Amino acid sequence: MTDVTRRPTRIAHVGIAVRALDDILPFYRDLLGMPEVPLDDADGARIAGLAAGESLVELLQADSDATPIGKFVAKRGPGIHHICFAVDDLDGTLARCRNAGVRLIDETPRLGAEGKRIAFLHPAATAGVLIELTEL
Ligand code: ZN
Repeated sequence: MTDVTRRPTRIAHVGIAVRALDDILPFYRDLLGMPEVPLDDADGARIAGLAAGESLVELLQADSDATPIGKFVAKRGPGIHHICFAVDDLDGTLARCRNAGVRLIDETPRLGAEGKRIAFLHPAATAGVLIELTEL
């Protein structure tokens, strides 16, 4: 049943794994005209935020090859790492996914950057896309 008081799911941010933030940042900021938004670093990555309307692009540069972003870039090269969707009811959405047999990376929400609750879904269940869920 759909709860009419809930807003539709939105794109919170697109996470792009990069080799060197300083090399690629001018493309998004200056050529595409996306204002920078200060963000905390998280999960062993330096993060540069860029506003695209109500969504963000997050450029993720690994601190080392041993981090999730470092492993991703080593294996696949730079590129889209994950898409983060904002939902109004993270616990309910996660429960729906679990009940539907969707493979979860985070069984329960954890605190991500900026102190927001997040949870990741496994790409095996999402057409190959690493999906992060958050509440905004
Ligand atoms: Zn993210």
